[in-house]
Amino acid sequence: MNIYHMSYTPNFLGERMVKLSFSACNFRCIGCLRKKREGDIYADNVEYLEWNLENIIKKIREIKPQRIYLGGYEPTLDPDLIEIVNKLSKLDAHIVLLTNGSLLRRDYIHELLEAGLREIIVSVKAFDPKKHLYYTGRSNRPVLNAIKELCKVEDPYFRFQVETLLIPEINDPEDIERLAMFISKIDRSVKLFIEPWIPVVNEFREPSKEELIEAVARAMRHLYIVSYHPLYSEILEMRKSRRKAIFIDVLPKG
Ligand code: SF4
Repeated sequence: MNIYHMSYTPNFLGERMVKLSFSACNFRCIGCLRKKREGDIYADNVEYLEWNLENIIKKIREIKPQRIYLGGYEPTLDPDLIEIVNKLSKLDAHIVLLTNGSLLRRDYIHELLEAGLREIIVSVKAFDPKKHLYYTGRSNRPVLNAIKELCKVEDPYFRFQVETLLIPEINDPEDIERLAMFISKIDRSVKLFIEPWIPVVNEFREPSKEELIEAVARAMRHLYIVSYHPLYSEILEMRKSRRKAIFIDVLPKG
């Protein structure tokens, strides 16, 4: 089992959420946030647990989350992922896989769905092949192929979303529009989520609000549903409010 960290929030806009983080990744992103901070970047408190799958599931059962995220580094490298999804599916929560998509072949996607996965979010770090190679050390072709495969899934209970980063000079609003055009040729109703770069490593500046809105407007020319995350600097402002969500890191004891 590659799970090395868990975090949860007892109240995120009224919802209880758990995130499980898996170690190891086959990409080498220049701006990998995980390499900078392995825990939750918003966590205020820490709890400790005797670290094994049984105890992790017991803890999740106590939290009673509506949503469980399986995220990075890269969960699909874990040979036990299907078994983990299967066990989590008994907890009556919506299980979401966050992945770079590079290992999502057709059979594997169906095994995950049969195990109880309800949603996959594929992250496209950059649409331009050369910039993707520069940023991640890997080709984006398998990622784009995974998007095509996911569009073929016929399951009314399965949700699929593409997420892309807005990173100045790597994935600009023009690149995001090209990604939206690529997706629209397969299915215009696929949801696109735009995540502005979080400037906690120095390599790139934070995108401006104007660039974020331009990226959204360009993508909306081609897709029905486009949404976005606020800028990191905006989140920090919002978190000064007394109504902010509390995130808790759960780490191995000792
Ligand atoms: S795919 Fe995600 S976890 Fe892997 S190196 Fe890139 S940012 Fe880090």
